Amino acid sequence: MTKDSPVADRLLAWYDRHRRDLPWRSPPGERADPYRVWLSEIMLQQTTVPAAAPYFRAFVERWPRVEDLAAADTDAVMAAWAGLGYYARARNLLKCARAVAAEHGGRFPDTESALLDLPGVGAYTAAAIAAIAFGRPATVVDGNVERVVARLFAVEEPLPGAKATLRRLAATLTPPQRPGDYAQAMMDLGSGVCTPRKPRCMLCPLAAGCAARAAGIAEGLPRKAPKADKPTRRGTAYWLLNPEGAVLLRRRAESGLLGGMAEIPSTGWDGGTAPQATGWRCLPGAVRHTFSHFHLELEVMAARTGADWRAADGFWVPLDRLGEQALPSVMRKVVRHALAHA
Ligand code: SF4
Repeated sequence: MTKDSPVADRLLAWYDRHRRDLPWRSPPGERADPYRVWLSEIMLQQTTVPAAAPYFRAFVERWPRVEDLAAADTDAVMAAWAGLGYYARARNLLKCARAVAAEHGGRFPDTESALLDLPGVGAYTAAAIAAIAFGRPATVVDGNVERVVARLFAVEEPLPGAKATLRRLAATLTPPQRPGDYAQAMMDLGSGVCTPRKPRCMLCPLAAGCAARAAGIAEGLPRKAPKADKPTRRGTAYWLLNPEGAVLLRRRAESGLLGGMAEIPSTGWDGGTAPQATGWRCLPGAVRHTFSHFHLELEVMAARTGADWRAADGFWVPLDRLGEQALPSVMRKVVRHALAHA
């Protein structure tokens, strides 16, 4: 292997020595299970490898095959997903598992275009499954790959405008041999060597042909167009206890933010109505949470109901069983805040 070997050859030789051992990866030389590739890629869309790994292990232990996940109870899957965020993905995860079970006999389709037809499977995930599980020479492009390619070719046009250029350049590097290993090698290089800040060019197998390194501009690439500031929304959450010490929860609408998840009833930031109880008092402080498009600040009101109070909407959950509910992270913060101050 020389510095003039194709990028893919150098990268694959490096990968054979330095590949990360990840719970969803197959042993060297073995084709990966499409179910595991798909599940890991959906989880990794919103979190880091260390955060996703325990969720991945728990899912495959509980639902070892896609048919097992397809047959799972929706609430159980939502509860197992709780904490990973972006709950629309958990709902799509189930839809996709059910589509694979019902329409494809429990086997993932093996081409990028057929994979793209599955619920919740976008271009990145389809390419990753096609390459890693089926050995198709699909070009897998995520933020890591964009960064590596922008540096290799010293692309100075800022993102997101540069996306099409970076995709085209990435496709020129994808090899016909071992495309799955190549895709994973790119992921490993982007996460461990060609990192956003302080790329470790001294350790990089591609350093000899890297235009950004030669020009001394690697750390500043890829450039990014300035982002608009996130707005802050404000609302109120209602912590209502009954005489048995159970708290009122409500199920959010299936569509929209946190769709289908349980919540402490809340108003003002995303629809919702307040429970018609009396004697509310405002707890000190506030709960803050950041979603992808806005910051949220919730004040928390607390009250207790009489024995004959009936909720128009919602269900009671004993405090010691709250952990079993599919509560999104923002609502877990509300629970902690209420328990600390009510
Ligand atoms: Fe990234 Fe440096 Fe390698 Fe270029 S040489 S690909 S900048 S780590």
